[in-house]
Amino acid sequence: ASTEDPDSTGHEQVVFCQDKQSGLKAIIGIYSTALGPALGGTRFYPYASEADALHDVLDLSRGMAYKNALAGLDLGGGKAVIWGDPEKDKSESLLRAYGRFVQSLGGRYYTACDVGTYVADMDVVARETRFVTGRSVEHGGAGDSSVLTAWGVFQGMRAAAEHVWGSPTLAGRRVGVSGLGKVGKHLTAHLIEDGASVVATDVDQRAIDWVREAYPQVDLVDDAAAMVAADIDVYAPCALGGALADDTVSVLRAKVVAGAANNQLAHPGIEKQLADRGVLYAPDYVVNAGGVIQVADEIEGFNFERAKLRATRIYDTTREILRLADAEGVPPAVAADRLAERRMAEIGRLRTIH
Ligand code: NAD
Repeated sequence: ASTEDPDSTGHEQVVFCQDKQSGLKAIIGIYSTALGPALGGTRFYPYASEADALHDVLDLSRGMAYKNALAGLDLGGGKAVIWGDPEKDKSESLLRAYGRFVQSLGGRYYTACDVGTYVADMDVVARETRFVTGRSVEHGGAGDSSVLTAWGVFQGMRAAAEHVWGSPTLAGRRVGVSGLGKVGKHLTAHLIEDGASVVATDVDQRAIDWVREAYPQVDLVDDAAAMVAADIDVYAPCALGGALADDTVSVLRAKVVAGAANNQLAHPGIEKQLADRGVLYAPDYVVNAGGVIQVADEIEGFNFERAKLRATRIYDTTREILRLADAEGVPPAVAADRLAERRMAEIGRLRTIH
């Protein structure tokens, strides 16, 4: 199906929002509310055209439905994009106008942070709507979601390690962390604690300085290209999307890929190339769901221990997906999609009965 045309993508609802006074132009995409209210962040980005913004929101909202389904949340999938430059166009009046649009959906969509929006912005949005998560701790929010994102990635990685090497630990393995940002830093700490040796890279000197200081035992390589060619057991992309492309997969030496970055597969078909080369790819949206689990918990009144327990279950979900992939003879990415679709269809059916 074309992602340009909501009619052909199966979305429940796509809302175009415009507020002349503040200059707000936003699109809210609700892919599915089969499991509950749609949850997904707001991306604030200077798209080249409205068509690009629409394309992105349709893709992202569908992705959230799959992610939330596999995270075991009673939430559907949605996402919003604000078309503009966050550096220049963001203002209190714009964010509040946006909050009023979210409120007007009556709880069919809960928003949160994404690229270009921060907890402080959600605090402003929250002045107009109660259907917002990812607020600051001072405002009763869950705070920085990278804490449980990293914890969840670590759990997914343990399940992958168990599948390949027979034991759910990274002890004695060499793990390459590409991107020492908010998630990469926490992940490095979990890996070291588990007894792994870590190889890392980042384009930002401040991140390199941090790791030299915090974990002098971490080896550093120049860039992501050097990382994939290095002698590592596990590759953890924790920077931007598209880490797994044709040229990467052909040289990758790791047996497992499990990382936080969204959209790691540069194009469809890479999951098959990885499988053919005997590389186990733990699907990104499965292992990086700890962040959405953390902000979703805020809806009930944030409780870190409860959220952490839920994020720990990413270990079980990843195991289940890897088992299903073997049983059905498909790559894990395909097995994950099937499991998410089954859950949405099953619970969706129950909902219509009641
Ligand atoms: P971040 O911006 O804090 O960190 C990203 C790091 O990657 C930065 O240190 C940056 O310098 C580095 N980087 C950028 N380009 C690089 C390159 N080419 N090679 C090496 N390093 C590079 O972001 P984050 O919150 O840590 O998120 C990391 C990834 O995980 C992103 O793809 C994000 O979408 C995804 N993710 C994050 C969360 C979360 O809760 N923070 C949740 C789910 C998914």
